Amino acid sequence: MRITQLGTATAERIPGLFCRCTLCRRAAETGGKDIRTQTQAVIDGHVLLDFPVDTYLHALHGELDLPAVSTLLVTHWHSDHFYGEDLAYRMDGYALDNPTPLTVYESATVRGFYDRAFFLEQRYDDEHLRFVTVAPGDAFTTDDGYECHVFEARHGHEFGDCLIYAVSHDGRTMLYAHDTGFPYDRTWRMLKESGLVFDYVSMDCTHGLIDNPS
Ligand SMILES: [Zn+2]
Ligand SMILES: [Zn+2]
Repeated sequence: MRITQLGTATAERIPGLFCRCTLCRRAAETGGKDIRTQTQAVIDGHVLLDFPVDTYLHALHGELDLPAVSTLLVTHWHSDHFYGEDLAYRMDGYALDNPTPLTVYESATVRGFYDRAFFLEQRYDDEHLRFVTVAPGDAFTTDDGYECHVFEARHGHEFGDCLIYAVSHDGRTMLYAHDTGFPYDRTWRMLKESGLVFDYVSMDCTHGLIDNPS
């Protein structure tokens, strides 16, 4: 299992879109690794974790071969994790000579954002872009053999629609837990009951120092 971190920043990025703080000004001057794009990762080049606005930028940097992606796991509906309008360009007519169908796993709320994007397009393309709605407690295996478990993140409106994924393949397991405050007791319990042992954990600390748990 080869994990590539494509971006590690929050929604506004570093430097922030409209920010003039010392950190952002310094990052803009220094450039290079001090420029942080929105959070996204890819496993073995074809299992993508989240689809933020910066996805196109990550592809331009040469670390992401988007046409080769066969599975997309979406954590939640914020635009730095799911940008449905760009995902629509996987449809026939926009993506030519690409035989790789893309299956998207997402919560019911993300599905609503997807429907909005495709309302704008006025069509669907189920042959190339398939959506599967999942919820905390679900487990499934992707078409390419990656075993996934879904857990609940503590985030957003706390409707239980922000997700954490555990992904297993070839005897290795990784946990992708981004945009979560300190997890609920029930999430810790489900993690324990899953029996999974993680070789790699990718986890942030959303609102870690702020009096806001999610
Ligand atoms: Zn700033
Ligand atoms: Zn978020």
